[in-house]
Amino acid sequence: MSDLERLVQDIAGIAIEDNPQIVKQKSRDFFWYSPVLKQQLDHVTGDLVVTPRNEAEVIQVLRACYAHDVPVTARGAGTGNYGQAMPLSGGVVLNLAEMRAVKQIRPGVVVAEAGAILSDIDEKAGAQSGQELRMHPSTYRTATIGGFVAGGSGGIGSINWGGLRDLGNVIRLRVVTMEAEPKVLDLQGEDLQKVLHAYGTNGVITEVEMPLTASYDWVDVIVGFKTFMDSVHFADDLGNRDGLLLKEIAPIAAPLPHDYFLRHQKFLRRETSVVVCMVAPFAMDAFTAFVARNPRAELLYRSDTATDAEKKGLPPAYELTWNHTTLRGLRVDPSITYLQVLYPFPNQVERVRKITELLGDEVPGHLEYVRFDGKVTCFGLPVVRYTNEERLNEIIKLHEDNGCPIFNPHRYTLEEGGMKQTDQVQLDFKRKADPKGLLNPGKMIAWEDPSYDFSSDKLFLFPGLQRGE
Ligand code: FAD
Repeated sequence: MSDLERLVQDIAGIAIEDNPQIVKQKSRDFFWYSPVLKQQLDHVTGDLVVTPRNEAEVIQVLRACYAHDVPVTARGAGTGNYGQAMPLSGGVVLNLAEMRAVKQIRPGVVVAEAGAILSDIDEKAGAQSGQELRMHPSTYRTATIGGFVAGGSGGIGSINWGGLRDLGNVIRLRVVTMEAEPKVLDLQGEDLQKVLHAYGTNGVITEVEMPLTASYDWVDVIVGFKTFMDSVHFADDLGNRDGLLLKEIAPIAAPLPHDYFLRHQKFLRRETSVVVCMVAPFAMDAFTAFVARNPRAELLYRSDTATDAEKKGLPPAYELTWNHTTLRGLRVDPSITYLQVLYPFPNQVERVRKITELLGDEVPGHLEYVRFDGKVTCFGLPVVRYTNEERLNEIIKLHEDNGCPIFNPHRYTLEEGGMKQTDQVQLDFKRKADPKGLLNPGKMIAWEDPSYDFSSDKLFLFPGLQRGE
């Protein structure tokens, strides 16, 4: 009997899928955003998809997988875009989608199972108490809260609240370890850093406690500008207005808005750059006054005064922003790809200007205004008109040489996609919580190859990666 057969015996009664086509489909995420990852990971698949209904079943699965040395890769909705949720060495895809209960809503706090969908949480919190999550990714309507804290970083709302890594933006995570007898830990405060944005490499999150804030019927607004830099100056100023409540500020360079936002196209001109905003309804008068002060700004669209006919079929503004900008672009032009850039405070506008001058329409700008370490600055998710990997690497280097760190979305490891250094806290926790290294293998370089030299600029190749045909 094989290890997998023994495993199946041990977890009898828990939902298991072994149809190879379905397993392959559930082994994929949005890795194909990257032409580099598409080539490396296209063949990757798990052996089984296991769908626990509760924490007790998660424990049973992890205990059995530990006993039979079967790798386990947790999966929420599979919307991550660096292959985070892909089981590089096969094994079990642990599908958390059935654990989606919103268990408790009280002033300032929600407790939910890890597989709860973000927009479902907000719908319940809004209806019960006029509250919503502080931030969400643009995959709000599909992504899970567990996947967001394990794989995401921030998004819509980060202009007010910063990112998930900031103390206070996650209250508690309940985590099951991968040991002979799995432990259940409630992590809070500093301990959260052990598993936040660790891609499920050192524990499976079963329950999440998150802070809430007041919810609004946010007004979607698009403001137009003649040049991209005009839109950047406007956004930078807007992000620093203390009295104006917005949830989203995203400058996007022409011709992307017109070419990619097909349903909004009737409001856009090809030569116009835009700032996509979400504004609190009570702040709209102040917001329009702010727009009127700027002779270069033109209000192109606002959802609160648009007619039903005008609004028909339009996606929400947040689905024009963050990685949805890229997704819409890929639908129109599959040859493009993107980067993730930080323009550090206080020279963010100057740095954007420099990069825009250097790269022009080969890398059209897309920025997301956020609070980062308490300062208003911007991330970039610029579109790259992709030619080959060598040129992509040159473009990356050009950003870095100009003081703009890249969080490389063309790598599947935590370190290469992040700060290019070992996260000692996460590594130490993995030693205790996953001593056999069975959780999401291949994603943490520090575990796979402790001698790896991050300064070498060499691509990490996980030896355990399934080989393609
Ligand atoms: P998955 O993709 O299923 O998983 C993500 C990672 O978390 C994987 O490593 C997985 O193994 C691990 N994981 C999942 N569940 C658990 C669990 N219960 N315990 C332990 N580990 C777990 N991200 C942002 O941060 N901001 C954005 O604005 C944003 N916009 C996006 C737009 C598009 C169009 C796309 C394709 C992606 C975007 N992302 C963004 C990335 C991704 O959508 C989010 O991070 C999302 O929250 C991931 O949730 P998920 O349920 O799909 O997680």
